[in-house]
Amino acid sequence: MPSLEEQKRLIIEELHSLGYLRSEKVVKALLKVPRELFLPPHLREYAYIDTPLPIGFGQTISAIHMVAIMTEELDPVPGDRVLEVGTGSGYQAAVLAEIVARSGEGKKGHVYTIERIPELAEYARKRLEEAGYSSDVTVIVGDGTLGLPEKAPFDKIIVTAAAPYVPDPLIEQLAEGGRLVIPVGDVYLQRLLTVEKHGGSITKRYGIECVFVPLIGKYGWHIDSTY
Ligand code: SAM
Repeated sequence: MPSLEEQKRLIIEELHSLGYLRSEKVVKALLKVPRELFLPPHLREYAYIDTPLPIGFGQTISAIHMVAIMTEELDPVPGDRVLEVGTGSGYQAAVLAEIVARSGEGKKGHVYTIERIPELAEYARKRLEEAGYSSDVTVIVGDGTLGLPEKAPFDKIIVTAAAPYVPDPLIEQLAEGGRLVIPVGDVYLQRLLTVEKHGGSITKRYGIECVFVPLIGKYGWHIDSTY
């Protein structure tokens, strides 16, 4: 069995050859962040199988190709202030931090990430600290559909749970020239939507089909969650 490091290199090579990974910055970030560290210990050996994996409380860490696709679509750059809704394991936040806060010289960006389940937020906070990202990522417990007005505007916003529509507060909190990536649809199937704000007006572009756990909150699904 190849080492985890070797398995990581192979899956990233494959995602690159399939066209999911296009930019050097995202390849570098995925090579750098140890996905195994963000998984429960008994699942660490499966870290580089390209599938969502359970992280507790009915939630999942997204598949590697989905993290690749969403990160490429978001197009984070060094210095960006990023908001993530749906911290989950903290893995996607670490990938973003690697690009916005670690890879550039000078301007240092930051990732704010919101999770509604306090135990998951605490788990992610510990994993991010262990992986060395505690000064680049702030984990907040709350309803991410409300955004984080006190830290707005954000250059980039990524939502990693399935929304029925784009929450108004997230559009409001997007900076001029900013970009928002969010899965929108019904509870079982969504499309990845990219929203951009230019000159105060909004453009929308739909991408691939995807399946995420529901975004539950004021501007999300109103389900009493066992998800
Ligand atoms: N980005 C995560 C990662 O890297 O592991 C995966 C996210 S998981 C697919 C979706 C997460 O969104 C779950 O942890 C869920 O509890 C969270 N979530 C759902 N609705 C939310 C809301 N309104 N605010 C914040 N988090 C929410």
